[in-house]
Amino acid sequence: MALVVQKYGGTSVGTIEKIRNVARRVARTYDDGNDMVVVVSAMAGETNKLVALAEEICEFPSEREYDVLVAAGEQVSVALLAMVLQSMGYKAKSYLGWQIPIYTDNAHTKARIDEIQDANIHEDLRSGTIVIVAGFQGIDRDGNITTLGRGGSDTSAVAVAAALKADVCEILTDVDGVYTTDPRIVPEASKMEKISYDEMLEMASLGSKILQIRSVEFAKKYDVVVHVRSSLNDNPGTLVMKEDSDMETVLVSGVTYNKDEAKISVLRVPDQPGIAARLFSPLSDANITVDMIIQNVSHEGSTDLTFTVPRSDFKKALKIVEEAASKVGASGVESNESIAKVSIVGVGMRSHSGVASKMFTTLSTEGVNIQMISTSEIKVSCVIDDKYTELAVRVLHEAFGLDKGQLTQE
Ligand code: ASP
Ligand code: MG
Repeated sequence: MALVVQKYGGTSVGTIEKIRNVARRVARTYDDGNDMVVVVSAMAGETNKLVALAEEICEFPSEREYDVLVAAGEQVSVALLAMVLQSMGYKAKSYLGWQIPIYTDNAHTKARIDEIQDANIHEDLRSGTIVIVAGFQGIDRDGNITTLGRGGSDTSAVAVAAALKADVCEILTDVDGVYTTDPRIVPEASKMEKISYDEMLEMASLGSKILQIRSVEFAKKYDVVVHVRSSLNDNPGTLVMKEDSDMETVLVSGVTYNKDEAKISVLRVPDQPGIAARLFSPLSDANITVDMIIQNVSHEGSTDLTFTVPRSDFKKALKIVEEAASKVGASGVESNESIAKVSIVGVGMRSHSGVASKMFTTLSTEGVNIQMISTSEIKVSCVIDDKYTELAVRVLHEAFGLDKGQLTQE
């Protein structure tokens, strides 16, 4: 008998009929003799609707109230799933974050889980109850409702699995695993059997949209093996797990892209100590994560600084940067929302050279201009004009031998 944590996303619980399907699958796993904890997201589109309501009132609502509002979607789906299971004759009980409780810090809208008290869950499991936990939400130490950032139910599931030392953490979703790239762009993309946490972090942060980044960080920290698989069939999906020696032999394991960033340039910034800190501290104070940063070679005592921020934070970021830029004496701020970041990822590049130059050559052959470059041990990313995204992804996927049926790996 195992303890299984399953997480179902919004599309899997989007209608009552779909919730019935989820219930049947949960029941099947339970009937096989497993203890079951199920984490669910809000029904598809519900969280967006709640966000839109807040936006009708003002652009920057109180974050405390925003969390109270957007956490409501999961309250509906957990109750519905519990009701369906009960109508099928199973013992099932829903929990909101605060009822467990799932404690978080007080960073509203992006809170981090720091403790899960699992006594309630264990008691229910002992009595044969299927426990249903609202994803995406928690409570801070002062009793305020918090949420974990969009897509946060993944993190709820991994955190619950870690806290309970579950045997399996399955993320059941509308895709059947992690692919070498987006199959909508490259039909030859193939499903990976397994991927290391670090590769998945790079893929996720680059827009793979399959798992929230924080859930992978959490899984890595607590060594939770996450099985990403389809909620519609029983095919094995992709295991997100510790790196092993097979993974090293592949030069590039995936090509990803991200159209969710925007670029901001601060022009003619005085080239003096402390200036970068004065530009970026207000952004981090506002909880905005800056991704790529480039500082040009300084010219006559001043330099240009270019960086990218999430598009969802773009307006907020621009306002902050414009203020900070005028304070430090920069000559102006430019911005561009129509950019995309295309990246190649693979632990194999740690031990192979020439990967980056092959990427640049491949892009230049297609006439794609590279606006910014950044690298890590296992990733090379280029910012390009977003109208070339699909082309870039396709040619890179082919160039690195990832197209299905391509025989050679370099
Ligand atoms: N319902 C939340 C969202 O739409 C959390 C989640 O789906 O994981 O972002
Ligand atoms: Mg999701």
